Order: sequence, then C-alpha cells, then structure tokens
Amino acid sequence: MMQPVIIIGSGLAGYAVARELRRLTADRPIVLISADHGGFYSKPVLSNALSTGKTPESIINGDAEKMATQLNITIRPHTRVMAIDNANKSVLLSNNERLEYGALVLATGADQARLPLQGSGVSKILTVNDVDDYKRFRDAIADKKRVAIIGAGLIGCEFANDLSATGYQVDVIDIASQPLGRLLPPEAGAYLQKKLEDVGVVFHLNASVQSVNHAEDLIQLVLTSNEQIKTEIVLSSVGLTPRVDLAQETGLLVRRGIVVNQMLQTSDENIYALGDCAEVLGKVLPFVMPITHAARALAATLAGNPTPVLYPVMPVLVKTPACPTVVAPPEAGQAGEWQVESDADGVKAVFQDDAGNPLGFALLGQATAQKNDLAGRLPPVLG
Ligand SMILES: Cc1cc2nc3c(=O)[nH]c(=O)nc-3n(C[C@H](O)[C@H](O)[C@H](O)COP(=O)(O)OP(=O)(O)OC[C@H]3O[C@@H](n4cnc5c(N)ncnc54)[C@H](O)[C@@H]3O)c2cc1C
Repeated sequence: MMQPVIIIGSGLAGYAVARELRRLTADRPIVLISADHGGFYSKPVLSNALSTGKTPESIINGDAEKMATQLNITIRPHTRVMAIDNANKSVLLSNNERLEYGALVLATGADQARLPLQGSGVSKILTVNDVDDYKRFRDAIADKKRVAIIGAGLIGCEFANDLSATGYQVDVIDIASQPLGRLLPPEAGAYLQKKLEDVGVVFHLNASVQSVNHAEDLIQLVLTSNEQIKTEIVLSSVGLTPRVDLAQETGLLVRRGIVVNQMLQTSDENIYALGDCAEVLGKVLPFVMPITHAARALAATLAGNPTPVLYPVMPVLVKTPACPTVVAPPEAGQAGEWQVESDADGVKAVFQDDAGNPLGFALLGQATAQKNDLAGRLPPVLG
C-alpha cells in the first residue's frame, strides 16, 4: 500500500493541500495531524467577527470529524508532532505513536510575537492567532468596555475597527508614527488614522509600552512617552514568527521561515512546507492568497506532476470598513518611491521604480476602485 501524505497543521494551508490533493487523487491516503481541534475555519474572519455577528462557535465551518468524512482523509486532532525522523520517513506523535509517511507537508503556521514587557499585568495580555485564542478573547471582553491594542499593523487595525464599531473604547499603541507603517506611505497612513479616529479609535503613536500593571480592576499601561493608559483588556498584535522548531530540530534549512524552493520542497526531498511557516525563495508571505497558489502547486507535485508555485499579484484587502483599504506592497528593499495622490475621498499611492514602472500600491477610500487596473500593471510576485 502507498505510504500516506502526512500534513502537519489544520490551518488554511494544511486543509488547502488536503483538499487539492484529494481532488487529484481519489485513493492516496492523507493524514492530517493537528495540535488543535482540527476543525476548518477561515482565520481572517476573526478580526471582523464582532461586527459581522459571528461567534467563535459559528466561525467553525466543519469539525474534524465532518471534514474527515467530507475529504475522505484521516484527521488526528489534539495531537502534536513531537519529532520527525526523516532518515526513516516517520513522525513521532504526542501519544508516542509513530507514523510513516511517503511525503510530509509542514503547515505549522506562525506564532504571534510577544514583546518582552515588565509589570504585574503582563500575564493578562491576550493575543489572537486562532479560534481558541479568539474564544478566550471574546469571553474576556464580554462584560468590558475598554480594550488597548499593542500594534497598529494589519491585525491591530482590523480589531480596532471591529471593536470600536461594536461600542468598545479602543486605544492603539504603536512605535511607528502611523498605522500600517510597513504597508503604507505616510499620507496614506494619516488618512487611515483619521478615518479610524472618526469612529472613536484613539492612537498613541511614536511610543512603545514600557510596563503593564494591575490597577485595581483596570490594567494600566505606561508608555515610553510617559503617557499612561487605563484599560480593561490588552490585546497584543505586534507581528508573526513562523513556527520553525520542528524543522530546525530535524536539521532542515531554516532562515526566517522553513526554507523551500519553488517546488515548496525543503532541504529534505520528501518534506515540503507552505503557509505562514514557509519561506518560499526568500519570501515569507503570511496571507491567504499565497496559500491558495502554493497548495495547488504542491498538490500537483504530490500527485506526481511536479509543479513550481507561481505567485501572481496578490492584493490584500484590509478589513477596516471605516476606511476601505487594499495593498499590494513592493518587495522589502526594492528601490523606488511612492507617488501619492490624495483628496478627501481617498488616497492612491503607487510605488514606482526610477523608470516609472509600478512595483506596488496602496489604495484607500474611493481609490480602492482602481485595484484591478493597478494590479494588472504590476509584475507577478513570483514568476
Ligand atoms: C486575525 C487575523 C486576521 C487575518 N486576516 C487576513 C486577511 O484578511 N487576509 C489575508 O490574506 N490573511 C489574513 N490573515 C493571515 C491568514 O489568516 C494566515 O496567513 C493563514 O490563516 C495561515 O494559515 P496556516 O495554515 O499557514 O497557519 P495556521 O492557521 O497558524 O495553522 C497552523 C496549524 O499547525 C498546527 N501545528 C503547529 N505545530 C504543530 C505540531 N508540532 N504538531 C501538530 N500540529 C501543529 C496548529 O495547531 C494549526 O492547526 C489574518 C490572520 C489573523 C491572525
């Protein structure tokens, strides 16, 4: 009998590979192993679930049992892969069981980064990176009114909009001088900031959090600017760190993420990686669209038709209804300049090289209508 494809992780990446592979091969055994509940859900929904009326329970589209039947695969929920024995092509599970694989797929995702903070309230800081975290967060805010968010990146801004739209008093703290500092030029950042302020979000920029302490029933944040914020809940969203430990302990090549070539193959020819844990030809792209493209290519490869992943232009929609925003950021370190046109209705920012070729864009407000036109003029992310 054919050895199974073992997939580690039941996030969008793990499920996308399982689904695509099942489409191509009806009888190849597929085993999906997950440290969590193993149910299928769309993670992006978490940061606008309040205003769209979703609960942690209703976010799950199918539990592990239902998904196993639907995809005709084996799912091992609440089971952690502790080690990979790549010489013998097997994995060791948390219940001490050993499973052999024909091919192994690492879809282990990323952890929310944690700032090294001081104070008696540090253990109260919440992060949201999966539906279990989200359930804890929803339970925590249920009888509260004030939330402070550390980090004004994509996830921080989306939660800020969602919370303020549903009646919470929201403070956002960031060391940068604007929200979405890595994705937007200053004029666009200022526009987004103003739109979020208009719905009640209070920004504390150019400042980081120095300490987090209990203050009676509240939590007090002291910022490097000496400002003090009293709040009830603290949510940290300061970035993601690819989960690479398992790969590292197996001796696979790891840099920022698990290093893979365009076939999504790691430094071991029988082990592949995709999603938030993977670094594809130097790129770590923790978004849904790269997963969709990677999963299709990898499934074809696993089904016997070696297929390199190609990334087209993949604009990311920022879920801030107070300020519709779409970004297709230029690659880090690319030479060029932002050309910005803005008025009261929106901002169009195009990042161009010396010859005037567009390499990336950010569109806000009414300018988002130009997304398709601009996307058509950008080079593919990975050709
Ligand atoms: C709040 C939020 C909003 C977002 N919004 C957007 C958006 O609007 N658009 C967009 O493009 N992207 C968005 N993203 C990013 C997107 O959701 C992620 O890129 C994507 O979900 C990552 O999927 P993944 O499968 O790679 O990782 P994960 O979803 O993190 O899955 C990893 C899986 O691996 C399992 N695992 C890890 N280690 C082990 C082990 N040793 N043994 C067994 N199992 C293990 C975990 O239990 C989990 O099941 C958002 C992210 C967040 C947090």
